[in-house]
Amino acid sequence: MIKRLHLFEQIFKLSKMEELSNGSLTSILVCMLCLFLTVNGGYVKYYTGAGVVPGKLNVHLVAHSHDDVGWLKTVDQYFVGSNNSIQGACVENVLDSVVEALLRDPNRKFVFAEMAFFQRWWVEQSPEIQEQVRKLVDGGRLEFVYAFNHTPRAGWQIDPFGHSAVQAYLLGDELGFDSVHFARIDYQDRAKRKGDKSLEVIWRGSKTFGSSSQIFANAFPVHYSPPTGFQFEVFDDFEPLQDNPLLEDYNVEPRVNDFVEAALTQANVTRDNHVMWTMGDDFQYQYAESWFKQMDKFIHYVNKDGRVNALYSTPSLYTNAKNAAKVSWPLKTDDYFPYADGINAYWTGFFTSRPALKRYVRELSGYYLVRESA
Ligand SMILES: [Zn+2]
Repeated sequence: MIKRLHLFEQIFKLSKMEELSNGSLTSILVCMLCLFLTVNGGYVKYYTGAGVVPGKLNVHLVAHSHDDVGWLKTVDQYFVGSNNSIQGACVENVLDSVVEALLRDPNRKFVFAEMAFFQRWWVEQSPEIQEQVRKLVDGGRLEFVYAFNHTPRAGWQIDPFGHSAVQAYLLGDELGFDSVHFARIDYQDRAKRKGDKSLEVIWRGSKTFGSSSQIFANAFPVHYSPPTGFQFEVFDDFEPLQDNPLLEDYNVEPRVNDFVEAALTQANVTRDNHVMWTMGDDFQYQYAESWFKQMDKFIHYVNKDGRVNALYSTPSLYTNAKNAAKVSWPLKTDDYFPYADGINAYWTGFFTSRPALKRYVRELSGYYLVRESA
């Protein structure tokens, strides 16, 4: 506001100067008006529709909320948001606000996995909302990484504590998925894979079925949260991209630099020029606009800067880009077991309840593998 008043004062003073001709006064006024429009802090149209740009580093922003189907609270408590003293989590808020946010901008995308929650939400929606959600799914903007009248293509196993090679066979051959994405692999395995750029592999789950049993497997370089500083949950302490020059803490350039730096860091552990940022965390997007508003701005200003290309994406779009890349991926044929997330922090056998059932699973897995390798 101070800047605006200052401009008006200048114009007023100039208009009083008698030696100015009408023509030059008009041009000064036009100049001032232009300046005024550029710093007025009003509406900005963010260009969020970027696709993949060949030859650039592409940062695929995959918006997601990891909603455990029963963990510290029951499934129903998580859905309706009761018992929040145990954990502040309401999945109904997530789905309500994500659908709203997707409808606000046709370029925004979101992935959702937990159908037990979606089913509870869906049956309570009006026919109008259901129709809008169907369109979001048909348009590839709400991607279900498991079901809902659409054949899913991507496995989103982001939180299981280790992964059996049988999964590669089941998801790839039996279900026909073309990719699986996960966060948890052994910490030493992860360090090694970052070093030799083998976080992303062709994972073959069956010797008998060979290449028909394989799937593109993407192990995340850190976890399923965004790079540090890019977590935008409503009450989190993050530095928002602030692009209004009339307000405090304007920071477009430094925040764009932060983004580019984080993208280049991740590019160092990837073979081609596509990286995925998992934009979400446990029970996040309870006010989805907080995330999408920031991502809109980052996509707009990062692409204006031009050093890297940022886009709204999904696991399917990311996998398309990986398939198109002229890169050979390492082959993996065994399990991602055992799982440790730190020194002496092995999670193997941590399910100590139901030992009889687990023993049966263990024995049958053995028979299965023997049959496979026969
Ligand atoms: Zn989980």
